[in-house]
Amino acid sequence: MTHTQGAADSKKFYRSLRDKVDRSGWKAQVFARDKNKCCRCSKPAHVVHHVYHLAQMRDDVFRENRQLDPYRSRRELIRFLNLVIEKHTLDVGESLCSSCHKAEHYDDP
Ligand SMILES: [Zn+2]
Ligand SMILES: [Zn+2]
Repeated sequence: MTHTQGAADSKKFYRSLRDKVDRSGWKAQVFARDKNKCCRCSKPAHVVHHVYHLAQMRDDVFRENRQLDPYRSRRELIRFLNLVIEKHTLDVGESLCSSCHKAEHYDDP
């Protein structure tokens, strides 16, 4: 596989990961746990912020499962996605209002 091909695959792969998270109802569950209030200032929350990023989880799964190659087969891709989703619990998200979320990303873009 060429380098460029790998990069394109990894973009597609990341998108399917995000789709899977979106479909899982994770955001709604985080909002419900936090009662739709910002974890910092208690104003109404608008976004769920990732304390631990999806890209980090993906890289951790890569590191912990070197024998697994999500680009090799669909079966391995699904196994890989499931391992990432296992790490993606409610603990990795927090409800924030827009201004607290902006502040969060200003410190750490
Ligand atoms: Zn806030
Ligand atoms: Zn965020």
